[in-house]
Amino acid sequence: MSITNHSSAPGANVHFEHYCEEPGCKEWGGFGNSPSKAIPVRWWCWEHFPHKTYEQEQALRRKLEAAEMGAPN
Ligand SMILES: [Zn+2]
Repeated sequence: MSITNHSSAPGANVHFEHYCEEPGCKEWGGFGNSPSKAIPVRWWCWEHFPHKTYEQEQALRRKLEAAEMGAPN
């Protein structure tokens, strides 16, 4: 056995790029969720992450509304 396969080996790139899976969204998918180890993790940005608590959802809505009102146009 020789150790020749480090960076180019398939599976070595654990940190692959995963953007938000919401269609049209260009945000980075920083929030992953998987119901079990057998299922690949899916990724979303915080805005589209579907597993937020009610309080987190409300806090995000308030933040978005405030940003909209403060926008110059
Ligand atoms: Zn998104």
